[in-house]
Amino acid sequence: MSPYNNEKLYYKFRMGLKNNAEKLDTIGDNHIGTSTETPMRSDAFTLSADEKINIIKDDVQHIMETLGLDLNDDSLKGTPNRVAKMFVNEIFGGLDPTKKPKASTFENKYQYGEMLVEKNITLYSTCEHHFLPIVGRAHVAYISNGTVVGLSKMNRIVDHFSKRPQVQERLTIQIVKELQNVLNTDDVACVIDAKHLCVNSRGIRDIESSTVTSEFGGKFKDKETKREFLNYIQLETKF
Ligand SMILES: [Zn+2]
Repeated sequence: MSPYNNEKLYYKFRMGLKNNAEKLDTIGDNHIGTSTETPMRSDAFTLSADEKINIIKDDVQHIMETLGLDLNDDSLKGTPNRVAKMFVNEIFGGLDPTKKPKASTFENKYQYGEMLVEKNITLYSTCEHHFLPIVGRAHVAYISNGTVVGLSKMNRIVDHFSKRPQVQERLTIQIVKELQNVLNTDDVACVIDAKHLCVNSRGIRDIESSTVTSEFGGKFKDKETKREFLNYIQLETKF
């Protein structure tokens, strides 16, 4: 008895994956993104979350067994299921467009015309080249065009796009694009300062380095406005 509801669909899906993997070029440790959109297959959501968890569980088990681990050990036997659920529901949950935060905006009743900056938004993402964590801070700003958004919505947007296999450049752009859409203005900026564990903990093993990326839209391309934003995010906040 197969764990999958639709055997044919599963077979087609896996064959598609295999063909895709064979086409892949190796880019090694060069962290180059290929597109501002997350590369997704057209059949990305033909399988349900539960079906994906079932498949990934088997795959993780296969990796562990290949490494020679004994899955009868009490400490290891739950790992394949745990990892599969974590991939689908948590750390890669942002691949699912239905999980995108709802765009509830408000009228700018205060007529506040200066920039609004939310700095030090904690960010956890995953490097798409190594599947290792990216841990950092995002600083996001916008100048209202008559519409404002709740502060926590900015955190949620950062979190949503972080929960994908990512390259930092793409993540920065995706956050700006989403806020531009939600706020109906180009005047949005984002700076991300993050540590990539694939650089810090393996490979070159540079524990101190961090990576800074930025995207400046609309008025933020202007020298003075950009400088004002960058000055704000350098403010040390102590409470
Ligand atoms: Zn990496």
